[in-house]
Amino acid sequence: MDNHLDRQEVISALAGDEGFHIRKSKTLGEYYAYYAVKYGKEDKYIIRTSTNYSDKRDQLIYFATILTTFFIVLNCIIHFFYINYLKRDFENKIKKMKRYLEKGNTEKLLYYKKEEKWIFEFWEVLKEWQKRNLDNIEKLDYEKKLLKLIITSVDSFVGLIDQNGEFVLRNNSLNHLLILDNKKYTKAFKYIEIIAVIKKSIQEKKDIRQEIYINGIKEYFIISVKSIKKNNQFLITIKDITSIRRTVEIQKTFISNVGHELKTPLTNIKGYLIALEDAPKEIRKKFLDIVKNNVIKLENTIIDFLNISKIESSKILQIMPEEIYKIEKQVNDSVAIIKKEKNAEIEFHWDLLSINQGFINTDKEKLILILKNLVENGIIYNHSDNPKIDIFILEEKDKYKFKIKDNGIGIPEDKLKKVFERFYRVDKARTSNLGGTGLGLSIVKEVVDQFGGEIKVESKEQGGSIFKFYLMK
Ligand code: ADP
Repeated sequence: MDNHLDRQEVISALAGDEGFHIRKSKTLGEYYAYYAVKYGKEDKYIIRTSTNYSDKRDQLIYFATILTTFFIVLNCIIHFFYINYLKRDFENKIKKMKRYLEKGNTEKLLYYKKEEKWIFEFWEVLKEWQKRNLDNIEKLDYEKKLLKLIITSVDSFVGLIDQNGEFVLRNNSLNHLLILDNKKYTKAFKYIEIIAVIKKSIQEKKDIRQEIYINGIKEYFIISVKSIKKNNQFLITIKDITSIRRTVEIQKTFISNVGHELKTPLTNIKGYLIALEDAPKEIRKKFLDIVKNNVIKLENTIIDFLNISKIESSKILQIMPEEIYKIEKQVNDSVAIIKKEKNAEIEFHWDLLSINQGFINTDKEKLILILKNLVENGIIYNHSDNPKIDIFILEEKDKYKFKIKDNGIGIPEDKLKKVFERFYRVDKARTSNLGGTGLGLSIVKEVVDQFGGEIKVESKEQGGSIFKFYLMK
């Protein structure tokens, strides 16, 4: 039919052998599939056929939709499982990393797949970070230990209180100022003088450094309170300065005593020398004796002062084996005049360990200084016609024990404790005439202390005295 010649399938068949086309039928308004093919001799005819395509198209769309949905769902399921797998794998790796990091382990390698290079890199960064952290922790730990050691080894009290006034840290120095199981500073410190300073610093929000005197225990301290603003804490340090204060006081008293001790004999000497000019012949001798005694007293005082300054400046002992006969001789020589004057007798009783017979290990000069003072006192403070001084020496493994016994006037029991104090004399008027300075026994005690020893006295009035001391070897 000629009116079909313009159809697409016919055009295609005429051009080639066959033609196929799908289109909406203008007459029927639905989709049709058309097929045309040449037929007959010399291809004179064209056979054209058509079939309704709308139903098939709907079917196709229907199948395509089902298939697409199916594939989408399948894809989702696979995706879900894959994501889950990845997540778990990732979780396992992170868990492993966490475990390694928690153990402080930076060495262990993590297994990873090639495509997970980023995890490996991440792990490397973590390891580096962990290593730095561990180094810092170690450093901090060391510094913490060091700080603790410093705080615990200082002589001063060091404590840190928080904003509630409770100790968060403190050392054990100056424990006698504290009630140990109390946390609050107001209850922990026993003395109001300390509490008042801390309170003032907290209330006025300013650092305080102040010297305090605690009347209850008669001790001096320097207390410092510093606020650590960042943490709202306060650092308290307390330093005991009692011995420094006492030394200053002792020095002051010593200087004033020295002045007095020198002035008295000098005034006497001056007075008697002036009086001597007009004095009748018969009392001149008496005046000269007084002048002479005062000169001796001056000389003794100066010798004692020199001894004090000598032992204070050289506290180091020079201990070496010394022959005992030399020690005996030097002690006897040092008191020769008074010994002869008073017809005194000195006897040494050595009880040495057999291997050391004939020698003792000591600082000879300082031992002689001790013995000279004690022997001299035993002779001077003695009313007997024949003063007798016995010196007993007992050697032990690590020390020598000395006992110096005299048959002198003795010391009243209530004065025994005071005899080692500087310038102390039992009977001032009487002993001053004997040339005493009140310094001898204080020198003895100081030297014994330098030896790491201890000295005691046993005595009673008119009953003689025994001085006992020991010296470490
Ligand atoms: P001094 O230079 O006055 O002797 P010391 O310090 O040696 O000073 O002695 C202090 C005081 O102790 C003396 O003044 C004396 O009264 C008393 N004293 C010391 N040793 C004896 C002793 N062996 N017997 C009796 N009294 C003593």
